[in-house]
This record gives sequence, structure tokens and C-alpha cells, in this order.
Amino acid sequence: MKRILVTGGAGFIGSHLCERLLSEGHDVICMDNYFTGSKNNIRHLLENDHFELVRHDIIEPYHAEVDEIYNLACPASPVHYQYNPIKTLKTSVMGAINMLGLAKRTKAKILQASTSEVYGDPFVHPQVETYWGNVNPIGLRSCYDEGKRCAETFFMDYHRQNGVRIKIIRIFNTYGPRMNPNDGRVVSNFIVQALRGENITIYGDGTQTRSFQYVDDLIEAMIRMMDTEDDFTGPVNTGNPDEFTMLELAEKVIQMTGSKSKITFEPLPSDDPKQRKPNIALATQRLGGWSPSVGLERGLQKTIEYFKETLGN
Ligand code: NAD
Ligand code: UDP
Repeated sequence: MKRILVTGGAGFIGSHLCERLLSEGHDVICMDNYFTGSKNNIRHLLENDHFELVRHDIIEPYHAEVDEIYNLACPASPVHYQYNPIKTLKTSVMGAINMLGLAKRTKAKILQASTSEVYGDPFVHPQVETYWGNVNPIGLRSCYDEGKRCAETFFMDYHRQNGVRIKIIRIFNTYGPRMNPNDGRVVSNFIVQALRGENITIYGDGTQTRSFQYVDDLIEAMIRMMDTEDDFTGPVNTGNPDEFTMLELAEKVIQMTGSKSKITFEPLPSDDPKQRKPNIALATQRLGGWSPSVGLERGLQKTIEYFKETLGN
């Protein structure tokens, strides 16, 4: 049994991770400042003696004795990370410094939740880990993209300079139950709009693509990554390579919810990547044959069920 710190543990992905780690018999410290996360996401874990909830902002140093750290603290939706871009940068960069310092002192293994956004608006398709990306350093998305890129650099340098055992995964668009209904990401937006009978808002002409990973597949990859040999740092892509246009996604959601919602077109936000799809060969090779097992249809079904309950439909 290990003592494991999950930063951003009250968020969408973090809450699923805490649940999984507890089910494996570990002690879990969930640290969060509740910016985008919520106690509701982890309320069912509060009774568990092995679960500890700490309100803390990761830009301040944090002291605890731990064996492993999963560093997830950072708003992930464009609407939220652009709300206070300076804070987003500080969260990624100072958060990485604080957690790497903690890992160094306690000799803990540490995993960074990086992102496909490090590839920016990519010229290489599908994206492979050796591609350095096409990121605008001064645009509206930069606070997130460059913050995550800088965090990766800190991780690699703490590894090379101080021998800290690090793991970097680059997460592609992930969805599932406990997404915040107001967080503005495309899957939650479309489902909530469809269930409420509101217009489905496609940004741009809807030909841009994304590849959607169901949250359970990601959690499996995260756990496997943490357990890889110490000399394997990543970065490793984790995502589902099935690629869809936003128009296809909207039509699927309308059909699956039986909604009468109409599709409307709104302006495309600046620097919105035109296409995104992971090459997962490295993940499959290094994470014991891992590949996603939940297709879009089944994942959407579970997510629609969740939002029906949450919204009281
Ligand atoms: P989320 O917004 O639901 O979770 C982020 C959590 O971090 C929230 O609970 C939030 O309150 C907390 N947090 C934010 N700033 C903090 C701070 N300064 N101190 C302490 N806690 C703070 O988002 P998510 O989708 O669960 O994403 C989790 C991680 O995975 C993020 O690091 C994100 O960048 C990364 N990621 C997610 C996706 C995705 O598609 N969901 C894709 C790529 C990367
Ligand atoms: N998008 C959309 N309508 C929405 C929300 C998002 O068409 O209501 C588009 C967005 O412009 C982008 C894609 O869906 O092209 C994915 O957006 P999201 O914010 O979920 O993730 P990211 O852009 O970070 O991949």
C-alpha cells in the first residue's frame, strides 16, 4: 500500500483517479483549491478512512510524506483556463516546481498530466511524441499550452539534474461522467444543450477534428504509466485515435439523445487546432499493450446518462 498525492483530485479526471487508487488499497491525499473541481465529485469518498481531502493552492509549497504524486491541478477547459490566464500559467509552472521539489525531498515518483495542446495546431498528423509542435507563444491559448510545455521542461530537468523519477503523459480530449456541465468543453456543451433542447453551438464550420477518449481508458493508462520502469519517463500520448469532426459529434449527440435541438454556427476561437489525433504506438508498446477499449458511442451513452441525472432530465 502506498501513500499517493493527487493534485486536482476534486476535478473530473482527478476524482476518477482517486476512486481507482482507493479501490487498489492505497492511501490517497486529494489536494484541490476547488477552482473548477467540486466536493460533489469526491463526496462519496469522504467516508473512506484511506481518503484525505486537503484544500490547498498548488502555487504555494505543500509538505507531506508521499510515495507517489499525480499532478493534475490545472483548469483544462479553454473557458476556465482563459478566465485568469496569469493564474493558469502560475498553476502549471509554480505547481510543477512545488510538486517536483516535494518529489525530490520525499524520493516520490511523480506523474505529470500534460496535454495534446503541447502540439498546438499541428502540422504532423496523427501527432507522435517526437513532434515538437506548433504553438503560438503569445495567443489566448498560450497560458495553458506554454504552461504545460514549461512544466514538461521542469520535469525533464529535475529528472536529468536531480534524478527525480518522473512520468509524463500527454492526454488527448477526454470525456465522461463528472465533467462540469458549465465548463465549455465540446462534449459536455453538446450533451447539455441537447438535453435542454437548446441550440447546439458549433464553433467555425465544424470540420475541425478531435479524437475523444473515455475517462476509464485514461485512468488505466495513467496507472500503467506510473508502474513503468524508472528509466522510462515518457512523454507518452494517451488518447483514442478514432477521429471525428465537430459536425459528426453534434449529429451523434442529437441522434443519441433524441433531441429536437438545431445546430447553429458561431465564430471559431483564435488558435483553435484544426485537427487532432494521437499516435498511440508508444503507449501500446510501453504500457503493456494498452489501447482504448471504450468507443465513442458507448462512452457518450454513459456520459449522457450522467448528465440526465445531474440535470434532472
Ligand atoms: P478539471 O478542471 O475538472 O480538473 C482540474 C482540477 O484542478 C480541479 O479540481 C481544479 O479545482 C484543480 N485546480 C485548478 N487550479 C488549481 C490550483 N491552483 N491549486 C489546486 N488545485 C487546482 O479538469 P480535468 O479535465 O479533470 O483535467 C485534469 C488534468 O488533466 C489537468 O491538468 C488538465 O490539464 C489535464 N488534461 C485534461 C484533458 C481533458 O481532456 N480532460 C486533456 C489534456 C490534459
Ligand atoms: N467547440 C464547439 N462548440 C462548443 C465547444 C467547443 O464547436 O460548444 C469546438 C472547439 O472550437 C474545438 C472543439 O470543439 O474545435 C473542441 O473543443 P474543447 O474546448 O472541448 O477542447 P480543445 O479545443 O481544448 O480540444
